[in-house]
Amino acid sequence: MHDYLPKELKIWNYVEIILKEVLTSYCYLEIRLPILEKTKIFKRAIGNITDVVEKEMYSFNDRKGNSLTLRPEGTVGCVRAVIQHHLLHQKNNKFWYLGPMFRYERPQNGRYRQFYQLGAEVFGFDTEDIDLEIIILTHRLWKRIGIDSYVTLEINSIGSKIDRFEYKKKLVYFLKKHEHLLDEDCKRRLYTNPLRILDSKNQDIQKILKEAPLLSEYIDISSSSHFKNLCNMLNSHKIKYKYNPNLVRGLDYYNNTVFEWKSNQLGTQDTICAGGRYDHLVEEMGGKKTSAIGFAIGIERLVLLTKSIKNFSEKLEEINIYIIFIGNNNKYYAVNLSEEIRDLYPKLKVFINFFNQNLKKKIKNAINSSARIIILIGDNEIKKGFFLVKDLKKEKEYYLLKYELMIKIQKIFK
Ligand code: ATP
Ligand code: MG
Repeated sequence: MHDYLPKELKIWNYVEIILKEVLTSYCYLEIRLPILEKTKIFKRAIGNITDVVEKEMYSFNDRKGNSLTLRPEGTVGCVRAVIQHHLLHQKNNKFWYLGPMFRYERPQNGRYRQFYQLGAEVFGFDTEDIDLEIIILTHRLWKRIGIDSYVTLEINSIGSKIDRFEYKKKLVYFLKKHEHLLDEDCKRRLYTNPLRILDSKNQDIQKILKEAPLLSEYIDISSSSHFKNLCNMLNSHKIKYKYNPNLVRGLDYYNNTVFEWKSNQLGTQDTICAGGRYDHLVEEMGGKKTSAIGFAIGIERLVLLTKSIKNFSEKLEEINIYIIFIGNNNKYYAVNLSEEIRDLYPKLKVFINFFNQNLKKKIKNAINSSARIIILIGDNEIKKGFFLVKDLKKEKEYYLLKYELMIKIQKIFK
């Protein structure tokens, strides 16, 4: 788990502002959800034999003995909330949320135990139009952030639960013949979650899989025509994608369309955004039958990628006006002046040096800060009713009356 320090958060803010602007331009509404949910809703929705539920959840009993879990993902809580608050009655329900998720994983670059996700969920559309819109939306995000040349889209259809059930039997039958060649992880998954073997990062396993039966051959007509239509629409909108027949998701609730945006700049943790349809989850969680699709962006990975591509200055541009008072008696005037500046110019960043330092040191600090001007307040200035202003950029000094100072500030910072 990480501390997120101010320098780092500069890039976070850059990214987050764009994410929110773009989502709003597609009429998504923000929703804020609790970090804790009842453990059983994750177990049911994500699936008992998934990595997340088996070994990654932070769960504990509260004082009444109810098991609660720090959310490992956002979809389940969002579905719980939209059912609870009857938000599914309209035809257009699009939501987004941003916040920390928790998974007990092996920490490494791009993989943490507390990480942030921007999640988006859309309810009530069953045609591939919304799959297309979501992909176009995410593509627009990368363009706006300036990383679109460094990410690629992979898509697949994983069909329905019944399709996967049939396919799983065939896949297990095939893999058992090669069981001696499987690594420990895949051997375990063979008996728990065999589909996850398809996205193993082990090259030897991928070689074996070249001969394996294909999920696409077990997908029913309606699922495959949904997928075909989506591919055609992506083509006509000139969205480049790679069809990856081995793309599966780690959570059980997905069906039909799944997709991932990956980058080759990130090493092993290369997926910055993953999503797909989950047309049965609302019903399974007690709501009325409602189609749904969503995606989640891993903000740490998005920031890592953005940082590796774009130049961000190390400087924290956090001060515009630096106020120095000389002698404790003049502290009152410093505070007063700073408040008047903030009344007139609410966007300016005004800093008063309250440190117990001599004048020389205070001026040195002001020069080393990002401030454009220093305002000096000493006995002399107060007596005569003006302020000494140093413009650090133009290397000029002025004595100004208060109203002149306010006009000067407006001119400088426009
Ligand atoms: P991975 O295969 O990388 O473990 P996942 O399938 O578990 O990903 P999802 O549950 O689909 O991931 O989460 C969506 C996105 O959230 C991921 O693509 C990734 O960007 C981010 N993410 C997931 N787990 C972590 C983590 N432990 N640390 C940082 N980011 C994460
Ligand atoms: Mg994972």
